[in-house]
Amino acid sequence: MSKIHELSDVLADQIAAGEVIERPASIVKELVENSLDAHSNRIDIIVTQSGLGQIRIIDDGDGILPDDVEIAFKRHATSKIADPHDLFRIKTLGFRGEALPSIASVADVVLTTAADDDRGTMIHIKGGEILSTKPAAARPGTDITVSDLFFNTPARLKYLKSPQTELAQISDIIDRLALAHADVAFSFTHNEKELLRTPGNGNLQQVIAAIYGITNARKMVPFSDEDPDFSISGYTSFPEITRSSRQYISIIINHRYIRNFQLTKAIIQGYGSKLMIGRYPLSVLLIELDPVLIDVNVHPAKKEVRISKEGQLQQLIAGAIRKVMAQQNLIPDVLEDM
Ligand code: ADP
Ligand code: MG
Repeated sequence: MSKIHELSDVLADQIAAGEVIERPASIVKELVENSLDAHSNRIDIIVTQSGLGQIRIIDDGDGILPDDVEIAFKRHATSKIADPHDLFRIKTLGFRGEALPSIASVADVVLTTAADDDRGTMIHIKGGEILSTKPAAARPGTDITVSDLFFNTPARLKYLKSPQTELAQISDIIDRLALAHADVAFSFTHNEKELLRTPGNGNLQQVIAAIYGITNARKMVPFSDEDPDFSISGYTSFPEITRSSRQYISIIINHRYIRNFQLTKAIIQGYGSKLMIGRYPLSVLLIELDPVLIDVNVHPAKKEVRISKEGQLQQLIAGAIRKVMAQQNLIPDVLEDM
């Protein structure tokens, strides 16, 4: 007799969901990233009750072929990487093949998708169980609705914060995704109120204006620089426009929003004594690098990454900010008046 047995697929998916799907905002992130990987030009996000009612994402991307729809919900099923080499040159936001099975294991999911005009498919899956798969009329693209989140994992439900906090998290994720993809038109509606709309014309300053307001966007200056390994660009605020938190600094590497303390520090260092202690700028920093220089497979949600030559990148960033701030010579140094 043996005591060891393999976990059922549903149980294994629920365990994976524990890492990838912490809260409604994680679902929004994973689904929008899928839409972006599918080359969408337009992504509409419709949420009710801070994600505990419904999360619906409609895109105009590549869609999924009828024969692939059920496979897409299997663990480690992905169209994005195939052999071990690919792991070191990731160009897509997803690659672990975990999001759809994880979400479907803890919620009710209805997905309608079509890769071309006449072959749409609709799948309904709840708690990891496929309830139906059938042909459906659909426009090219994918329309997915997630409801009844955490219906079978009550501990997760209890761990969620207030509706306002969960909504703020969703908004925050959408803001960063929109900043990282100025060429995609985003809309975000919560309880029938439109909270964000971006034009999708590639103009980063217009995305910044949509998120932080036109007045703030006007007080942010463009910067850019490059060396043989990295190319950087973005917008950063004049020293008089600051916040008491670092969270208005977005660092985006190859169109992926990441958190990185050292690179954030490099931006702040670029201001030198122009920033008061405890004050932080509004900044959007876009970094382009060869994917071999970055390891994104460090964290299941890919928030943290490892970067080769990080010190060199820090210098490039601090230098670019310093240069652009030196040109703003009309701005008094905060220490000058002391
Ligand atoms: P991953 O994104 O890591 O590949 P997911 O579980 O998120 O894993 O998705 C599984 C697969 O389903 C993807 O590789 C992709 O082929 C397909 N897919 C998911 N969402 C979409 C979408 N919105 N449009 C087109 N294909 C999608
Ligand atoms: Mg994915």
